[in-house]
Amino acid sequence: MSKVNRFDVITIFPDYLAPLKLSLIGKAAEAGLIEIGVHDLRAQTTDVHGSVDDTPYGGGAGMVMSPEPWGKAIDLVAELSDAPVHELIVLTPAGEKLTQKIAEELTKSRHLIFACGRYEGIDARVTAYYQSQPNFKVREVSIGDYVLGGGEVATLVIMEAIIRLIPGVIGNPLSLEEESHSLEDENSTLVEYPTYTKPAQWRGLNVPEVLLSGNHGAIAAFRREQSQIRTTKLTRNPEK
Ligand code: SAM
Repeated sequence: MSKVNRFDVITIFPDYLAPLKLSLIGKAAEAGLIEIGVHDLRAQTTDVHGSVDDTPYGGGAGMVMSPEPWGKAIDLVAELSDAPVHELIVLTPAGEKLTQKIAEELTKSRHLIFACGRYEGIDARVTAYYQSQPNFKVREVSIGDYVLGGGEVATLVIMEAIIRLIPGVIGNPLSLEEESHSLEDENSTLVEYPTYTKPAQWRGLNVPEVLLSGNHGAIAAFRREQSQIRTTKLTRNPEK
């Protein structure tokens, strides 16, 4: 089996993952830099309706995804990689919030399995079971403090954040170095400085003079200062 990072997504809506065929991710898969599989959870059901959910124990609104098809689907997908540890990412608004640091950590995993919930989420025993398995590492991940209808969009966000960091995926690796959240300050990470391209004048607005000066030291100092100003604005007023 291959040594590149493999990503498997389990969902009841495989078509939702069609964007994985486009742009950077599509090209990376075509070039063999990564492997991607998308799997229909309903293929692991046994009844004619392909049921994947049931009413919640203890009562309450909505339906909960049943553990049985999830267990079967995850076990099958684990066989697609010979990685010693399969990292299971369970998408949930109750998980740890995605950051650039988590995306960087996940690039080191050779096999990532994304479990896309729907309805009121997945029976909690699925997470508990795989947490107890020595060949699995489980991470419950949220993409922010809001509730989506399902984990598919969250999976696309996380995969894009990871895959663009994999060597060879972005043509010029230097463009990753000065990005927002990868820039370090003494106390925090910084967001990127504002960027400009040609023309030098547009609708009465000029590109800052220093960027046209050719003075690399002055340009670096200006950019650093701008990053710090932007970051301070965000931390003082995080809603803006
Ligand atoms: N009842 C759940 C709760 O309050 O925590 C919300 C379930 S949500 C309607 C259905 C599915 O969407 C979740 O199981 C999860 O897979 C996904 N989802 C929703 N919001 C998400 C978020 N912010 N980050 C990651 N996944 C999310």
